[in-house]
Amino acid sequence: MPQTRTRNFCIIAHIDHGKTTLSDRLLEFTGTIQKREAQDQLLDAMDLERERGITIKAHPIAMNYTAKDGVTYKLNLMDTPGHVDFAYEVSRSLAACEGALLIVDAAQGVEAQTVANVHLAMKQGLTLIPVINKIDLPNSDLPSVKRQLEEILAIPADEALLASAKAGIGIEEILEAVVARIPHPKGHPTHKMRALVFDSTFDTYRGVVVYVRVVDGSIKAGDPVKLMATNGSYEVKEVGLFKPQQPKFFAQPMLNAGDVGYVIANIKTTSEVKVGDTLTNGRTPAEQPLPGFQVVQPMVFSGIYPINTADFEHLKMAMGKLQLNDSSFVFQAESSVALGFGFRCGFLGLLHMEIIQERLRREYDMDIIATYPSVIYEIEKTNGEVLYVDNPEFMPDPSVIFEIREPIVKCFIMVPNEYISPLMQLIMDKRGMLDHTETLDARRVMLTTILPLNEILVDFNDKIKSITRGYGSMDYEHAGHRADKLVKLDILVNGEPVDAFSSIVHRDKAEARGRILAAKLKEVIPTQLYQVAIQAAIGGKVVARENVSAMRKNVTAKCYGGDISRKRKLLEKQKEGKKRMKAIGRVNIPQEAFIEVLKAN
Ligand code: GDP
Repeated sequence: MPQTRTRNFCIIAHIDHGKTTLSDRLLEFTGTIQKREAQDQLLDAMDLERERGITIKAHPIAMNYTAKDGVTYKLNLMDTPGHVDFAYEVSRSLAACEGALLIVDAAQGVEAQTVANVHLAMKQGLTLIPVINKIDLPNSDLPSVKRQLEEILAIPADEALLASAKAGIGIEEILEAVVARIPHPKGHPTHKMRALVFDSTFDTYRGVVVYVRVVDGSIKAGDPVKLMATNGSYEVKEVGLFKPQQPKFFAQPMLNAGDVGYVIANIKTTSEVKVGDTLTNGRTPAEQPLPGFQVVQPMVFSGIYPINTADFEHLKMAMGKLQLNDSSFVFQAESSVALGFGFRCGFLGLLHMEIIQERLRREYDMDIIATYPSVIYEIEKTNGEVLYVDNPEFMPDPSVIFEIREPIVKCFIMVPNEYISPLMQLIMDKRGMLDHTETLDARRVMLTTILPLNEILVDFNDKIKSITRGYGSMDYEHAGHRADKLVKLDILVNGEPVDAFSSIVHRDKAEARGRILAAKLKEVIPTQLYQVAIQAAIGGKVVARENVSAMRKNVTAKCYGGDISRKRKLLEKQKEGKKRMKAIGRVNIPQEAFIEVLKAN
């Protein structure tokens, strides 16, 4: 089909505003699927993703639509992940499109996540079609939603289409608008082939499947191809389009400029395929790759350990499998005195971290414990050398550190008016600053704040939800690094540091955190034959201390020295118990004790 009859678009929406329902309606209306098939909500794959309100992987879908002008168009509906952790993937999916439907719930209005993705789409120069969905709801408030579109997103409200995905209202108008308003692809069919890689998956039967948007030229089976960023050379085995049903791959003789489709070549692992890379012809390679390629770097790190040490190999295998379809998740083996053998893992962000941990638990039935998450700190030494440290263990001695810089984020928070003051308190507690405030409507404001990434890692989103009784929402974008008074906090047991509890924290918060950790550890360390000191220290200086007092009686004392066999039994029993103990500074501590403290972290 010529490019003039192709439209590539995606849907931007906040969770629950109706993206899945609307996608199903579009597929039904175009006859791509039958009504009853739609019940499975084809676009959303994984349970976990639905629960968290995000989609990480969903394949694009091709539909044929005969418009009112009598012409049949090919519409490629792409999916975009709805979370900032995947902002780079979102930007590449958007780069593969010329336009986007922006869905806003008629009763809820514009939400924080919508704002960030609309900014991304505008930066890419996409044509946006605003769709106000759920107009059937009795509490829908069209004037308010229209004002928000104009004031917050700078989108003319008279461009908005009104729809009810549930009731099937406005579906044809949306399809007509896609055809009429979104520009067709404008690639050069005769230029050297360039295709944008926007995703890839691993299919058990086909191996690595690369998702591409052909920008210039064409590609077919048998072509030699090259990935320009990684320099890998391959031969194409198959090209094709996506279908919503299984089997979802639909082989074609060739893909042309403007097409969205897949390429299967003799690529061994998904790690060879970087999102944003350019695929070109190996015989007649393009001179310039497509713009915008970045190597995605993990932003958040944490140690993941099997609770049962015997599960190490199993955990390694499970992580390897997860990585096959998610090359942005990285891990390498490490060991900890307190927790034994495990892995240091890198994630794109907090949500990505939670998803991986949850998938290990649910899909692979792994019992795991994670250490306190850390960001990457830029540490400038007095000799000018700059180190990037994500693991407190590798922090140099304070005497050679000139300055520590931490990553900061610009965070958008939507909050109902009555909760502004407790929310501001939370932002202050998290070492944040208010940049500016915008009024959204009579009920809500949007706060733009600057916060250290490490402060929002653990419970920031939950706290916003609890302060605002679920009505607040937040999203963030990265905003560089800033120097601050950061220190390494160690927890010592009888003078020996417990590696799993070391963390990099702000100086003003170090003591409080040290006290909490020491107190928790005191609760779970069993009494020993002698007194045990638990200390929190910054660079050798103790800032908090707890004591576990010594056991009063010897365990064998009650045997009065008479019954030897009973005495031996008792000692043996003790020995068995010790097997699962970790010796830290002559103190035997059960591994469960560390796990208890980390769980409560
Ligand atoms: P997504 O999270 O954006 O994919 O949203 P879904 O499509 O899953 O929809 C979220 C909820 O809103 C579901 O319970 C839908 O049935 C409901 N919903 C979607 N569209 C409409 C609509 O037009 N009107 C009403 N009343 N409910 C809708």
